[in-house]
Amino acid sequence: MTEIADQFTEERSGEVTRISHWIDGQRVEGQSGRSGPVYNPALGAQTGEVDFASVEEVDAAVQAAKRAFESWRTVSLSRRTELFFRIRQLVHEHSEEIARFLTLEHGKVLSDAKGEVARGLEVIEFCCGIPELLKGEFSEQASTGIDVYSIRQPLGVVAGITPFNFPAMVPMWMWAPAIACGNAFVLKPSEKDPSASVFTAELLKEAGLPDGVFNVVHGDKVAVDAVLEHPDIAAVSFVGSTPIARYVYETATAHGKRVQALGGAKNHMIVLPDADIEMAADAAVSAGYGSAGERCMAVSMLVAVGGAADELVSAIQERLPKVKVGSGLEPDSEMGPLVTREHRDKVASYIDRGREEGATVVADGRETAPDGDGFYLGVSLLDDVRPEMDVYKDEIFGPVLGVTRVDTYDEAVRLVNENPYGNGVALFTRDGGVARQFQFDVKAGMVGVNVPIPVPVAYYSFGGWKSSLFGDLHVYGPEGIQFYTRGKVVTARWPDPATSKVDLGFPQTR
Ligand code: NAD
Repeated sequence: MTEIADQFTEERSGEVTRISHWIDGQRVEGQSGRSGPVYNPALGAQTGEVDFASVEEVDAAVQAAKRAFESWRTVSLSRRTELFFRIRQLVHEHSEEIARFLTLEHGKVLSDAKGEVARGLEVIEFCCGIPELLKGEFSEQASTGIDVYSIRQPLGVVAGITPFNFPAMVPMWMWAPAIACGNAFVLKPSEKDPSASVFTAELLKEAGLPDGVFNVVHGDKVAVDAVLEHPDIAAVSFVGSTPIARYVYETATAHGKRVQALGGAKNHMIVLPDADIEMAADAAVSAGYGSAGERCMAVSMLVAVGGAADELVSAIQERLPKVKVGSGLEPDSEMGPLVTREHRDKVASYIDRGREEGATVVADGRETAPDGDGFYLGVSLLDDVRPEMDVYKDEIFGPVLGVTRVDTYDEAVRLVNENPYGNGVALFTRDGGVARQFQFDVKAGMVGVNVPIPVPVAYYSFGGWKSSLFGDLHVYGPEGIQFYTRGKVVTARWPDPATSKVDLGFPQTR
């Protein structure tokens, strides 16, 4: 176990650990005098205090990255590959420890936390193929004696700002391709669950990554604004809620940066009357309540078409009492607490709001939440939800699943297409023709056919449409490589001294 992991065991309960920045290959205690609490949501108790960076501290990280970039970009592709294989191995060996950090600070159950690390690891594995990914094009004899070729080069210092709900995987979506492409990276993780990022920094150092190539600064809006406005940061990747994603996009682009800013979601799962209802009910329960609904790809709205509704609602209702809610460290827990008390209370308030707006409360999670101080809420199900209700419109981001009933496929697709978000969507049907039409019709970035959470594998790219993404390029996969590099085209002539002569005309291609 590393130094940080060592301090960070559940037995330390009662004591509050200080969580510091990671700059230029070492832990750096914050000097700003500002910090924030980190909780163990299962205990409802504070376990950490995380330093909040000042503008000067963000600058120190950027300057370290800037210095490191100059030599990192010269490291050969074969050495980078070798290093990424070591990183892959270390993250794999320590995946259980990383998962524990997630469970202890985020609250998700350990099996889910391990799943998160595994999906992040896939992105690191993809980056082990960096020589192949950075290959350019070559055109011999584009004109007589002239060859043309393209190369992709890193941008310089790039930054990532990440949300609380995937404290390991989302940073991996960013730093792995950014660093593999030859950039130096500054991460501003969520202040709610920051420890996994510092632990990752230790692992990267142990793998042999040069100091300064990966830095972590913690904090709030002060740190984020310092990143967005910093003249030495070339690009910003952001994942979080839509209002902040829009703000990040507008501010960082106004400061001349390349930006990909992924926002919130309201993911619909459409169930047609011909669907396998048992399969759809299993999928709805796992995609609606997994990670306590705190996933940007969680299904939050079921759209039951025609005769599917009654059967679907009763199949889900049957399953709800079996969802075991408890501490993420308990092996039989299937759903943990929410991330903070405030967030739990906000999510719970939507149950009353739904009732007031005319929805039918089929299950009220407040009645089934475990006792104690943990930030728990049981599973909730709202039927007869209508599109004009707040419980339909808002991203609740908790274990509250809504059902809306429509008569036709066209109505269901219209609901999805008119929604301001466009992250994920799923269709449950046995009809291949309808599914094919759906993939053509639907306005969302990630589509599942009988798959409720269609997070793309690491060799495709992840991103939504509409208010779920500001910017052009999706994260990781081929678009991630494109985001973290810029193209250059070289036109070269090696003159034959026998035939060369001065030509002052405009370059011709024939
Ligand atoms: P958030 O927007 O509150 O925070 C995200 C990041 O922005 C954090 O690092 C936070 O410190 C920073 N931040 C918060 N308020 C800020 C402000 N006023 N100014 C500047 N920076 C600020 O999001 P969250 O609550 O941590 O995460 C949940 C949200 O993230 C949900 O909306 C979810 O849908 C979304 N999300 C989206 C995706 C996706 O891929 N589209 C993935 C995961 C999460």
